[in-house]
Amino acid sequence: MKIVFATGNSGKLREASEILGGGFELVTSAQAGITEDIPETGKTLKANSIQKAEYVWDRCGMTCFADDTGLEVDALGGAPGVYTARYAGADKDFNRNMDKLLYELSVLETEASMASAIGLSVRKVSRRARFRSVVTLIIDGQRHIFEGVLEGTVARQKSGEGGFGYDPVFIPDEYPGKTLAEITEDQKNAISHRGKALRAMAEYLKGLQTEDSSIL
Ligand code: IMP
Repeated sequence: MKIVFATGNSGKLREASEILGGGFELVTSAQAGITEDIPETGKTLKANSIQKAEYVWDRCGMTCFADDTGLEVDALGGAPGVYTARYAGADKDFNRNMDKLLYELSVLETEASMASAIGLSVRKVSRRARFRSVVTLIIDGQRHIFEGVLEGTVARQKSGEGGFGYDPVFIPDEYPGKTLAEITEDQKNAISHRGKALRAMAEYLKGLQTEDSSIL
């Protein structure tokens, strides 16, 4: 089945191809003729995911999907969340994004330890966080939403060469002591936010194909 993925992110594309496997022919939005940046101006991951998928559907009318992903850090009140890509600036520099995240958490921890040093009772700063992916599929003009979450903690420093984006600072609960950039791509895809959301989408599409063939 041919399906357009509304992304220009090569990391997302590589993972989606692996996760969806052979039954799907993935075409990027650029390959479908959409070469401009797809706007994402929503206030939530869901709004952005819908906006990106509708942008592609409106221009090429092909079955398509978009993924919007955010990192939610408890100690930062759920930030960067929908602003994950632009956390340290509009240029979406992933190294500066990670540096800012590590810095913000270290400031909170320093404040907490100073408060505790003068006898104030303070709670330990939690590094608990999660990746959340919201995938919007549009088929026959109808939209369907799928969500996947990966729980973990923010590391104290960057480690690992694999993956992309914030992977070097995220330790998934399934691999204590290892960041997403230190496990294999197959290991990441098996547990990841994107893996969960895209496998749910694939199951839905396979179900439609089965219904179609039972009608024929
Ligand atoms: P968006 O969904 O394209 O808006 O991406 C949001 C931000 O999250 C970007 O900075 C991505 O690099 C980052 N990101 C998305 N998915 C992942 C992932 O699986 N691991 C690490 N970072 C990610």
